[in-house]
Amino acid sequence: MNLESKLTILADAAKYDASCASSGAQKTNSRDGKGVGSTGGAGICHSYAPDGRCISLLKLLLTNSCIYDCHYCINRRSSNVRRAVFTADEVVKLTLDFYKRNYIEGLFLSSGIIRNADHTMEQVVVVARTLREVHDFRGYIHLKTIPEASPELIETAARYADRISINLELPTQESLNLLAPEKNMARTKQAMGRIRFKLEEAKDRKQNGDTKLRHATGQSTQVIVGADASTDADFLGRSDELYRSYKMRRVYYSAFSPIPEPSVILPLKAPPLMREHRLYQADWLMRFYGFGTKEILTPEMPNLDLELDPKLAWALRNRQDFPVDVQKATREVMLRVPGLGVRNVDRIIRIRRLKKIRLEDLARLRVSLAKVQPFLMTVDHNPARYLLDSDRLRARFAPQPQQLELFQ
Ligand code: SF4
Repeated sequence: MNLESKLTILADAAKYDASCASSGAQKTNSRDGKGVGSTGGAGICHSYAPDGRCISLLKLLLTNSCIYDCHYCINRRSSNVRRAVFTADEVVKLTLDFYKRNYIEGLFLSSGIIRNADHTMEQVVVVARTLREVHDFRGYIHLKTIPEASPELIETAARYADRISINLELPTQESLNLLAPEKNMARTKQAMGRIRFKLEEAKDRKQNGDTKLRHATGQSTQVIVGADASTDADFLGRSDELYRSYKMRRVYYSAFSPIPEPSVILPLKAPPLMREHRLYQADWLMRFYGFGTKEILTPEMPNLDLELDPKLAWALRNRQDFPVDVQKATREVMLRVPGLGVRNVDRIIRIRRLKKIRLEDLARLRVSLAKVQPFLMTVDHNPARYLLDSDRLRARFAPQPQQLELFQ
């Protein structure tokens, strides 16, 4: 099989990994002379570098052959797809060729498991080592690692990569037993714990002046949403544990997408994309707004409201905490006001040292007055109590019902 055919198969197979979302986009191009730009080329995706820049990556699988049989995965061993495998040298060549043509700024490399975890991980490490040591490649490298591989191999991978990740896939062992029977939550967590330890060790060494040390600076993971009955509370509870105990940089929520010739235990339909979006919003609230998972979701309400963003839904359930006086409230309390983001809360705190805050000050900060007015007080605004207590407050924010399409 020639290199181009392999690239077609293995770049396409990599698109199911959500950590680089743009490569999963519907393919479009401007070859007909109309429009500008394209998506879904040969495995080019976008990601964020440690300094916050958005960068293009060549996103590939080393192989789509796999000895595991995860039901949700198109590359599982019982799947009837064309298989291909790159040699390490082929991936190195492609990366350098794409890089020199200025198509990419780095490589995102994942793989199905061939022979066994160590053999596969060795090949991944050879690619990264050759790029770094033989070709002095200084672009970005993100390596997906296999939790079952030996700790030494994962550690070596972290020395060549900028970002390293292990996909958790599902939030509980019960879900894994059902859909990915060869995977084990405890083993994955062990590997994440070791990576955390090594990342911290490398950070300490750098802070103590070891400027030559090259090491990944963070780890991330991905979970698949909607492939089984796991609730949003299951996902957020697990993410909370990963952020706290393993210092995960990001948990990516990837809505399950039906695959050709699916296993009979999978749902026929993808979950609403809004569910993925709401999970990202709730995740953001946990990381940057001081919300606990048990505040966002409860045993009685284990799934996020698809109609309202999670902060607004929380505020409507906790109306006794509002209105908040922006002149006096603490930063933590203001962060809970629907419509106020971190940046604006910090700006308001700076401004209120100098003057009394009025609605026009919030408007100047481009705060949505329609959203915040029921929940806060300014020197010239105090929302009527009946508005806050009204049953109609939710209706004011929920999307308007739409008439269904008329079929003729
Ligand atoms: S181990 Fe990875 S590639 Fe293999 S079947 Fe499972 S999800 Fe797919």
